[in-house]
Amino acid sequence: MDADLPVSPPRAWADIDLATLRSNLNVAREAGGADVMVVVKAGAYGHGLEPVAKVLAAERVAFVGVANVGEARRIRDAGVDTRIYLLGATWAEERAEVVARDWTPCLSSLEEAAHFDRLATAAGRRLRVHLAVDTGMGRGGFPEDGLDGLMEALESFRHLEIEGIGSHLPSADEDEEFTHAQIDRYHRILERLGGASNFRWRHLLNSAGLLGYDRRLCNLTRPGLMLYGVSPLPRHQTGLRPVMTLNSRVTLVRLLPAGHGVSYGRQFVTTRPTRVATIGIGYGDGYPRHLSGNGARVHIGGHDCPVIGRVTMDQIMVDVTDAGRVVEGDKVELFGANIPVHEVAQKAGTIAWEIFTGITPRVARCYSGG
Ligand SMILES: *Cc1c(COP(=O)(O)O)cnc(C)c1O
Repeated sequence: MDADLPVSPPRAWADIDLATLRSNLNVAREAGGADVMVVVKAGAYGHGLEPVAKVLAAERVAFVGVANVGEARRIRDAGVDTRIYLLGATWAEERAEVVARDWTPCLSSLEEAAHFDRLATAAGRRLRVHLAVDTGMGRGGFPEDGLDGLMEALESFRHLEIEGIGSHLPSADEDEEFTHAQIDRYHRILERLGGASNFRWRHLLNSAGLLGYDRRLCNLTRPGLMLYGVSPLPRHQTGLRPVMTLNSRVTLVRLLPAGHGVSYGRQFVTTRPTRVATIGIGYGDGYPRHLSGNGARVHIGGHDCPVIGRVTMDQIMVDVTDAGRVVEGDKVELFGANIPVHEVAQKAGTIAWEIFTGITPRVARCYSGG
């Protein structure tokens, strides 16, 4: 490489404001009124696993919640010593490491419990575990009709400490009635299993749960999305600010005559002489192709500009005819303070969670406020 040739900046990058992350955590703390397990699965919802876990751990949260042992390993290796909770099931061959590194699994069956107990016995230590109970999600945990005699059966596992009990809400942002009934069911289960005081940690509420519902006997919340600045319940957006701004730059500006097609399939055809800016981002960066033709907009120099034609892999086109002076190199916001990510999600027919986690590795993450 020629050292004297300039290095190109990335075409697309995500600014990640860690001070805003901290401030959103405080909103979650106050709204939930309980200790917090910060959910950082899937690379902290695309915000970068290690940097986000480090910042949140420094705020003395009770647990860091991850999807699997691969993520747990990365966080430990980054030097975070906050307790790690595994939100998903473990495979048998992963469990020795869970025991050795004292990660906290959630259990869905007695077979899993027995295996962890054998491994903990062999390692000469006691492992703290949580019970997962299925109160309606249908994804993991002990089914409700499998709870009879459970505590008695678990007592024989001398090297397990049943430290907590968790469940998960499938529709806290969609179905209030079901969610209230589910929260009642969770409390009845606590009673059946010997009472809330039997469990050091009781947790049920994700972002929508802690924002929209009473925490009652729960003493640990599990916020994910809201930490990154988006409330699943629009009426509770107050106080939350986006941590990530997705940016790109104008690569070209051209004047096209009326009647000129734009992008694959020529589904957009200009109806007037149109100034078209080409932007260096596409679905290869995680800017969804499903936005094509659905009225998406980007923000350039204080103006909203409509995306025209299909989103391509590396480039999109926007109409800048009415956007004042726009030139090559101008910064473009795809979402952030001016374009809410939930608007992008809605226009793409998906949810903010998927937009965040879909931002690909090609997009450089640039951190500030750390
Ligand atoms: C992902 C996840 C959460 C966080 O959910 P948000 O809706 O992002 O707040 C909480 N609990 C469990 C079990 C999860 O899988």
